[in-house]
Amino acid sequence: MGQSLQEQLNLFSIVPPIISLLIGIHFRRAKIVLLSLLLLLFQALILLSSSLSLVAQSIPYALSLFIPISFLLLGLMNEKGLIGKASIIRYVLSLVIAGVAFWLCTVPDLGPSLQIELFALPLPFSPLTQIGVILYIVSLIFLIFASFLESKQVEKSLPWALLIAGIPILIPEANFSWHLGGAGLVFSFALTQDAYKMAYIDTLTNIPSRRAMEEHFERLSTPFTIAMSDIDHFKSFNDTYGHDVGDEVLRKVAHTLSCVKGGGKAFRYGGEEFAIIFAGKEAKDCKVYLEDLRQSIATQGFTVRSNERAPKKAKNAGKKVNLTISIGACDNSWGSSILAIVKKADTLLYSAKKAGRNCVKIAPSKKS
Ligand code: GH3
Ligand code: MG
Ligand code: MG
Repeated sequence: MGQSLQEQLNLFSIVPPIISLLIGIHFRRAKIVLLSLLLLLFQALILLSSSLSLVAQSIPYALSLFIPISFLLLGLMNEKGLIGKASIIRYVLSLVIAGVAFWLCTVPDLGPSLQIELFALPLPFSPLTQIGVILYIVSLIFLIFASFLESKQVEKSLPWALLIAGIPILIPEANFSWHLGGAGLVFSFALTQDAYKMAYIDTLTNIPSRRAMEEHFERLSTPFTIAMSDIDHFKSFNDTYGHDVGDEVLRKVAHTLSCVKGGGKAFRYGGEEFAIIFAGKEAKDCKVYLEDLRQSIATQGFTVRSNERAPKKAKNAGKKVNLTISIGACDNSWGSSILAIVKKADTLLYSAKKAGRNCVKIAPSKKS
């Protein structure tokens, strides 16, 4: 009875890989789709061993080889989407892994034949097989290195997922099925994080986007201050040094603005315009922080970096150019709607431009 309850509980471990499979399909992430399918297949080998006439004792040994191998081979491939010629090799590889893993689970003496002592392990527990441990550690090392080169959370999650899925290789008493489920959970979490980033983080500057700002407004209680800032003569940066230098300028300004003090939060509003929101502060209390930002950008300037592939840039490499921003800010006393307050801040930004640029214009709180 206890055994059957345990078996029933084990069935729940397939839920996370099913979820990561479905989210992976939705976002067309082939790597996650295939790895989730393999997680499910490995779980099926365990959960359906008697119906599939498999040798129950051989299953952990087969998994100790194929979990690290599948993570390594599929994890290190380039992400090319779900459909297309480039994906075929991936599908074939996954099928081969699945087929061989299934076949090995029918081999009666797989365990004893893999028990090869290659070295003395000074461990307080005895791992399943030394070959499995080596594959596990080598795959982990490769995936950790690869994850440093990637910005996507899904790629960074691969070593974590393998770490969790492979724990029973080190500690055979651990439940393989639940650990495979744990890997599915890691994938689901990483996919959700990437989706959040896609929706709310501006890809060029890596700071929160206008959509994130709109969400931020919904949680904002009064008082608050909105500052609109705009790069001065930005068009001439693009015209003189090229669009990619313009992009670098945007990244640099965004980085400086995102370090704003006084509890402010910077967003890319659109183009070369940024918004800074101070929760819990009236406009007069924000002036000092906005002045700091303006001054910091003006004193740093911008140095054009060398790049042989961009001729416009190459001839200007190392050149230091002036970079300034203008800011207009007001607090919530200037309107009953966010739109009205942003509009007022924009009017102040316009007057900062008219006043010669590189300055901050603040509207004092409007007394009701
Ligand atoms: P002002 O001092 O009055 O603000 O002048 P300005 O030249 O900065 O203003 P204007 O609105 O004429 O130019 C904005 C320019 O910003 C035009 C557009 O090509 C450029 N821009 C908008 N988004 C991007 C972007 O993502 N990358 C680059 N490189 N340029 C952008
Ligand atoms: Mg502008
Ligand atoms: Mg501008």
